[in-house]
Amino acid sequence: MLNRLPEFVDPLTLVEKRRGFKGTLALANMKRLASLLVQPSGDASLEIEFGRDSAGQAIATGKVAAVVWIQCQRCLEPMEVNVDSEFTLAIVSSLTESRRLPENYDPLVVEQAPLLLSELVEDEILLALPAVGVHSEACPVVHSLDKDSQSQNVDSMYNAPESDEIVAECEKKQNPFAVLADLKEKLKH
Ligand SMILES: [Zn+2]
Repeated sequence: MLNRLPEFVDPLTLVEKRRGFKGTLALANMKRLASLLVQPSGDASLEIEFGRDSAGQAIATGKVAAVVWIQCQRCLEPMEVNVDSEFTLAIVSSLTESRRLPENYDPLVVEQAPLLLSELVEDEILLALPAVGVHSEACPVVHSLDKDSQSQNVDSMYNAPESDEIVAECEKKQNPFAVLADLKEKLKH
């Protein structure tokens, strides 16, 4: 495994050569992801290996790890999400081909090589983020209350909805994470 990530990869060539890479990529360069983050700094780490499974299907396996900060949908303060996801991607040339894949494989549709490696990492992180992120424990107390929103904040302090309600409410509204929900939905079909 090479300790350096190429910017672009040609998956099918790498499958034949049984190549692997590991390294880091800056989150700030992942535009779709960066727009969802409170602070798009830091790196994502990637390990990826190309090869074939026992049935001869071209695959890429590996893991993506990153610590990202998104906005809590309940208190609107930053919250940390630890992304640590393993993937097995089946390399296919079309979505039609992807329908024949075993269930545990996600398709990596390569319509034209080369593929930007950071996009693959970006997709994996986007899929690992919660559709609606809220602090898992109690939200941190915010001391600097804005004067205009003070009454509203006090009100919500005494009448804090359950996180399930927030999630349901957020899912109804258009929110930045709706794009993730859509993406997850698409990949299921
Ligand atoms: Zn919160």
